[in-house]
Amino acid sequence: MAALLEASVGRRVVVRYRKPQSLRAADSSDDSSAWSQSSRPLELLAVELAADPSAVKNTAAAAAATAADGSARAVTRAAADSGSPEGVAPPDIASVVFLYSMCGYRRAIDEAAFRALWFNTGRTRPNDYTMQNYIQKCSFGRSKLTNSTQLVFEVDVPCRGTGPGGRYNSKVACGDAEQAAWSQAAEELVQRQWDIDLTPYKQRIGVLPNEVSKICGFGGRGSVGCAERCYTWITHDYASNLVYFLHEMGHNWGLRHATAYDSASATGDWSCIMGTAGACLNAANGWKMGWALPLPGADLNGSTMPPGTWLPYFVPYQSTAHASHVRIYPSWVPTNSTDLGGGLPAPAFFISARIEDLPFEGGVLDDYWDEHFDSPPGMVFVHTSQNSQEPVPYLASHMEAALNASQQYRAPPPYDIVVRVDRLDGATGASVTVCRSEQEAESRNDGSCYDGIDNDCDGLTDQQDQDCQTGALKPPPPARAQPQRPPRSEWGSDSPPPPPPPSPPRLL
Ligand SMILES: [Zn+2]
Repeated sequence: MAALLEASVGRRVVVRYRKPQSLRAADSSDDSSAWSQSSRPLELLAVELAADPSAVKNTAAAAAATAADGSARAVTRAAADSGSPEGVAPPDIASVVFLYSMCGYRRAIDEAAFRALWFNTGRTRPNDYTMQNYIQKCSFGRSKLTNSTQLVFEVDVPCRGTGPGGRYNSKVACGDAEQAAWSQAAEELVQRQWDIDLTPYKQRIGVLPNEVSKICGFGGRGSVGCAERCYTWITHDYASNLVYFLHEMGHNWGLRHATAYDSASATGDWSCIMGTAGACLNAANGWKMGWALPLPGADLNGSTMPPGTWLPYFVPYQSTAHASHVRIYPSWVPTNSTDLGGGLPAPAFFISARIEDLPFEGGVLDDYWDEHFDSPPGMVFVHTSQNSQEPVPYLASHMEAALNASQQYRAPPPYDIVVRVDRLDGATGASVTVCRSEQEAESRNDGSCYDGIDNDCDGLTDQQDQDCQTGALKPPPPARAQPQRPPRSEWGSDSPPPPPPPSPPRLL
């Protein structure tokens, strides 16, 4: 929504501008939307399988087989069935992880090391760097990833042959044909060796050997959405980097990249793991996932946010509370505007406060975070998104502004939302005030200098406002005598005419 920002520049808006480096140039998920739509019939195609049963090691399967109900299959199904609809993070994250070797190439990470990275043990502390902790931290327990919902396999798959995508050769290529073949071979290998039905698990995570990774040309790759199957691919150099895993898994859950006002990059949002941050999700994506909620009484729209009224909130740092942001859906924006694109609703605005909270808020990739968070109190962010809390559509979120204390953001018409940061305390959160402006300036001529509200959201009401000290003098209208402002409908006769249709919020 670059247009929003440009329109705001020159007013009171102060946004901090730094050009972030493109961290994820190697991430290839954006070109995979078509790929993400297709689900290949794995069972229909023949493939060479590794002849040696010892090629598969799977303590997860062994553990499942000895689980209380005595059935690996039952455990598998229970884990998968507990998921929520596609596209949003499930309550129980069920994944099949394949740690690949092939062509004589060693796997990037073995099962023991992966388990140590992925799961907690009885000795794990809340801030130890595990995926289980990362998910817990970012979702506030809304989603759980545990040893019982994850199956981890070391698999050795054929180097070349014919797979679901045709002929493949892992020594020279890392394309769709290879990836499909590796998946299918791993799947069948596990099925044959362990008699485990992986079908109920939608999500596949594959970690590739170094030699193959060099061919791939990406750090991580993830299909967007997970209708039947979704794939996360992680290459060798990132095999111990939870940020890359969570970023790609975020794609699988239906999240697009997170963009920002200060970057042309598709991953420009330096406050979100779907952008460049080694952090949790931004508030907009967190809301889609159910990982971040609006504060009580702070899910606003046109009926709860009357024009010219400042609404104060204490916004706790997002990493400290599940309900932590102010969400504003601008229901006053005409929904029949074709400029909003494809019948989508107007973007909702999310106001959140963030502060470094290691290791998961600003960890690993903290160079990028530190570049922006070099002052202790953290920052307040304004994000927009046209996503719903349903799996689709899959739309990018956008960072509109990053604010320090005493800074302000103003969205232009027809949104007309003003966000003012009064204080960032560095320990618990931010004092933020929001206002819905209904005009550029108060005026003696339209009665707004006499209606008792701050129509233009500049913090000054009626005669306090310089706008009311100048301009053509006109006697106060009768309404001035009335202490209460007359009720007005959204586009009532006493309102200014509806603004022109908004410009497209952003390029998608
Ligand atoms: Zn990505």
